[in-house]
Amino acid sequence: MDFAILLLVFLFGLLFGSFFNVVGLRVPQEQSLLAPPSHCPTCKKQLKPIDLIPILSYLIARGKCRYCRAPISSVYPLIELATGILFAAVYAVYDFTPVAWLYLLFISLLVIITVSDLAYRIIPDKVLLPFFLVFLVLRFFIHPDETYLSHLIGMVLGFTIFYIIAIVSGNGIGGGDIKLFAVVGLFLGYPLLLLTILLSTFFGAFYGVLLMIFRGAGRKTKVPFGPFIALGALLALFKGYDLIAWYFSFFY
Ligand SMILES: [Zn+2]
Repeated sequence: MDFAILLLVFLFGLLFGSFFNVVGLRVPQEQSLLAPPSHCPTCKKQLKPIDLIPILSYLIARGKCRYCRAPISSVYPLIELATGILFAAVYAVYDFTPVAWLYLLFISLLVIITVSDLAYRIIPDKVLLPFFLVFLVLRFFIHPDETYLSHLIGMVLGFTIFYIIAIVSGNGIGGGDIKLFAVVGLFLGYPLLLLTILLSTFFGAFYGVLLMIFRGAGRKTKVPFGPFIALGALLALFKGYDLIAWYFSFFY
């Protein structure tokens, strides 16, 4: 691992994170990714290149629009930072191997759906479908940890488990979440899918309890599930087999 390249990958990650913010915000609104150019959602002022430097522009303007002083959500710089760190982590662990490129694609999907789900409570088909097709093809060729069949089983399980939960629970889980679990299952294979389900429901429930305690939220308060699925899937991606081995070490 070369430190200069690591830094470069991190910086590219920041730029991609910035782009994923745009994709996550615009695709559900049926807007073009290119036009109109980025603008402040409050005063509509078109942003200059200096306003679009990942993280730095946000910090220098202290989280406000430079023109109208309207506050800007801290989600966006955090998304940029997270993408930078995740991209760098992939390079640090997997170098520029085929698996690394595949992981960068998976991270891209998870970041984009996190942005859309946080902003609109939507996980758009227009984002899920292209990634699904790419993974379906690429996983046929690149599957160092699982058989291709395991990836296909993961896809079917991810869809079926949450489809059944959605029917049984009425409307506890959205269609986007079900389809996302299918794509996550396809990408990770079924052992890591099951781990992702455990982790994401745990994180989601934990956050729900925190909301009830600190914000007095009721049981009916809707929390977007996508970011927790993304968090669980990322942990499974980087540490999944270690976590599973650690878990089973208690029993044997
Ligand atoms: Zn503004």
